Amino acid sequence: MKIAVAKEIEVCERRVALIPDTVAKLVKQGLDVWVEAGAGEKAFFSDADYEAAGAKIIGNSAQLWSEADILLKVSPPQTREDGRTEIELLKSGSVLISFLNPLGNPVIAQQLANRQITALSMELIPRTTRAQSMDALSSQASLAGYKAVLIAAAALPKYFPMLTTAAGTIAPAKVFIMGAGVAGLQAIATARRLGAVVEAFDIRPAVKEEVQSLGAKFVEVKLEEETVAAGGYAKEISEDSKKRTQELVASHVKNSDIVITTAQVPGRQAPRLVTEEMVAQMKPGSVIVDLAAEQGGNCACTEAGKDIIWNGVTIIGPINLPSSMPVHASQLYAKNVTSLMQLLIKDKALEINFGDDIVDAACVTHGGEIRNQRVKDALQ
Ligand code: NAD
Repeated sequence: MKIAVAKEIEVCERRVALIPDTVAKLVKQGLDVWVEAGAGEKAFFSDADYEAAGAKIIGNSAQLWSEADILLKVSPPQTREDGRTEIELLKSGSVLISFLNPLGNPVIAQQLANRQITALSMELIPRTTRAQSMDALSSQASLAGYKAVLIAAAALPKYFPMLTTAAGTIAPAKVFIMGAGVAGLQAIATARRLGAVVEAFDIRPAVKEEVQSLGAKFVEVKLEEETVAAGGYAKEISEDSKKRTQELVASHVKNSDIVITTAQVPGRQAPRLVTEEMVAQMKPGSVIVDLAAEQGGNCACTEAGKDIIWNGVTIIGPINLPSSMPVHASQLYAKNVTSLMQLLIKDKALEINFGDDIVDAACVTHGGEIRNQRVKDALQ
């Protein structure tokens, strides 16, 4: 059985699905690993490193895609320079493991089903204890949370920590984190390590203790509706609750030097948390980093992929932050996909067992069908 690692062709993507260390582990299990020439280049893993780990380097990308039994990648399949889509190249009946964004782009699921591909979407891995080692959303969100703070610190025209110097005392920066999921918690920890005073807000009350244990103050809003959906994710809240939360957070946004927004609701546009009026109240020189930029933005002024200055406030809407740290992002992602593959391979052969709750949840297409009801609904 051939496991193949594709070279990413999406322009912003620097990650690679397997690193040489994980290749070596798979080869030790008696599996054939093919790596497309140059696949690890942007993450600083050379073809020679992969070869030394036991992989076969394949120069012909169409051959790699069409002969793989399991194709591994990071970004959803793309259209190639020759006009063909990567999905067209896949062997019918083969397995694809990747981020597929099936709720945001359900058409891709239909194309995969039409090609009889068994596609496992890394976004659909359940957020359970047993699936923790496969949870790529968490491994990558944590990188994004960390990097968001560094970007904000670099853009802020101030120090982060409190300093007592011969030339006077510097007050610590005030950081407000909106959305305390995996990215938000890592952002809190990073901002605290740099010496900022940190506040955080989330509509899920369960995160209060985690926020406090990281040394941040939790800004609480009591809503008269359930805010948690299945799987522990946040629900989309009513217009009334949105208004109440905006009123509550407005003064915290106004008094912060840095606002980092991370709020998302799976399959929907990101909730609008920071209005133009709130930005207008912020001090000139303040910085907003909006991690939901690609999902429409938590801030009304965000433009995805751009840094803009609005009323003296710098608003940064980064795209694919994990890819800006491709070494560790690839290392963690490689561990995630390798753990998932252990559920699919028995005695060096492929065995798709839908009795396994993780395989069942992550498998978006199989046998010519879309298996996930939410993805089917999104196609309507
Ligand atoms: P996410 O990326 O979907 O969202 C980020 C945060 O934004 C969440 O904390 C969410 O509550 C918050 N949010 C959404 N709407 C908001 C609003 N209007 N105002 C303020 N905040 C808002 O979240 P995530 O980091 O992917 O985590 C999702 C869930 O998965 C959480 O319950 C988390 O605890 C859980 N999880 C479990 C495990 C595990 O058990 N293995 C691992 C990781 C995450």
